[in-house]
Amino acid sequence: MAIALVTGASRGIGKATALQLAGEGYTVAVNFHHNITAATEVINHIVEAGGKAFAVRADISDEAQVMAMFDSIDREGEPLTALVNNAGILFEQSTIESLSAERINRVLATNVTGYFLCCREAVKRMSHKHGGKGGAIVNVSSAASRLGAPGEYVDYAASKGAVDSLTTGLALEVAAQGIRVNCVRPGLIYTDIHASGGEPGRVDRVKAMLPMQRGGQPEEVAQAIAWLLSDKASYVTGSFLELAGGK
Ligand code: NAD
Repeated sequence: MAIALVTGASRGIGKATALQLAGEGYTVAVNFHHNITAATEVINHIVEAGGKAFAVRADISDEAQVMAMFDSIDREGEPLTALVNNAGILFEQSTIESLSAERINRVLATNVTGYFLCCREAVKRMSHKHGGKGGAIVNVSSAASRLGAPGEYVDYAASKGAVDSLTTGLALEVAAQGIRVNCVRPGLIYTDIHASGGEPGRVDRVKAMLPMQRGGQPEEVAQAIAWLLSDKASYVTGSFLELAGGK
């Protein structure tokens, strides 16, 4: 079959996506940064269900680590045909006056540079221009790219705006090379990303403002990502799918 790389796949949306894609027949490259125990649990889960997966450690903001990760994927002997750029970071709520340069740079390094580096290495392997079989990329952005997240995390929202723009440009650049590039924009999804910082009750407050009156589950994002990667979406590129309960 073929390999799908999911970044940040040891928990949350990345974990749900890894499980979904394994169920659809991909061999899943489970990227993790620190937590090898959690990554191993994801792999065990996939293998017990009859699927195939392996772990690849890399900090996606580090160019050398990203290149080494893709080299290790090459050694598996199956073509890489799917990339899910999912790993991302969000810091505690803050107004602009308190945003340090260090925080801004860390957010951009992971949420933007990391996505660029993984796209670059994936395109080198998927592109018909380089003898590849083609493939599909899904970038995980956020509803925050449209809404701005004022008073909370404009740095995060801006990083996701860059992800949107990367999607548009790269989709056009590689459309004739057999690669589709699409984007999902989740709203409130119940994962651990909301555990750090945030005022007490924030999740309930946000939920109450949503037309569907509920947050989403990681599996609901995973299913949309899997569809965008699949041949069912063979004429879809440069598109944005809102997964935000109507907001
Ligand atoms: P999460 O915190 O549960 O998972 C993020 C994963 O990314 C973790 O496994 C973490 O270890 C990994 N990661 C972080 N920095 C990394 C790095 N430098 N290198 C490699 N891995 C790294 O969060 P989640 O909610 O599952 O978020 C996944 C994606 O969805 C993120 O891009 C996030 O911005 C986006 N998103 C989430 C929500 C939400 O409400 N949960 C909404 C919109 C968008």
